[in-house]
Amino acid sequence: MKLVRYQGPGGARVGIVDGDHLLDAGTDLINAAPGEAVGAVADATLLAPTVPSKILCAGLNYRDHAEESGMPIPAKPLLFAKFPNTIVGPGEPIRMPSISEQIDYEAELGVVIGARASGVGVGDALEHVLGYTCLNDVSARDLQFAEPQWIRGKSLDSFCPIGPWIVTRDEIPDPQALGIRCIVNGEKLQDSSTEQMVFGVAELIAFISESITLEPGDLIATGTPPGVGFARTPPVWLKTGDTITVEIDGIGALTNRVA
Ligand code: MG
Repeated sequence: MKLVRYQGPGGARVGIVDGDHLLDAGTDLINAAPGEAVGAVADATLLAPTVPSKILCAGLNYRDHAEESGMPIPAKPLLFAKFPNTIVGPGEPIRMPSISEQIDYEAELGVVIGARASGVGVGDALEHVLGYTCLNDVSARDLQFAEPQWIRGKSLDSFCPIGPWIVTRDEIPDPQALGIRCIVNGEKLQDSSTEQMVFGVAELIAFISESITLEPGDLIATGTPPGVGFARTPPVWLKTGDTITVEIDGIGALTNRVA
């Protein structure tokens, strides 16, 4: 099942994508149930599919991305955070900040929590997943690399596009076997598989939930494969007007422009 949030006449609504059509599903993402037909998905204004209370991110979580970054492969998950001010939906602009000249893209598998997770084991972790979405961990490298904490460089407004929908976990039997790509202005700059993750989705949930209770709707950014802009020769920095698409097999494609 594909779950969306969309702009209804009275505010945000939850919907279920049925082929090319959209069914209303009320206002509760976690307990969404199909209701009346709304119209064509293509005519709907889709919003970010979840409004997380927190966004936990894994750094250097693809072996080959750690190598291109000149960093050792982490022995345990390297966590950082983005704040909810970063969340934008499909088609919404990534807003170019005036304080950075090195804006970069990171295609990532986004994991949306469906059931509270605290102290869960690896074997039970995936039962706490509502589903999966495409995520772009937009990063201001000049800020990120100049400061020991990554908060500013990772949490600028609009720096976490997600969507276009959440594919529920029953349709993704193995989250570690998904092709993942980033396409910038029509050019494929990242092309890998989630099988390259150092710590898989279940391990990340177990590790995070040892110390931080994950709530329904919370979001985990699982790390990015190689091919990011800063590691290229010459580097590739995003600029106003650029179009970035994060594409994941079995999920879909998330496109945003830089404004
Ligand atoms: Mg990242």
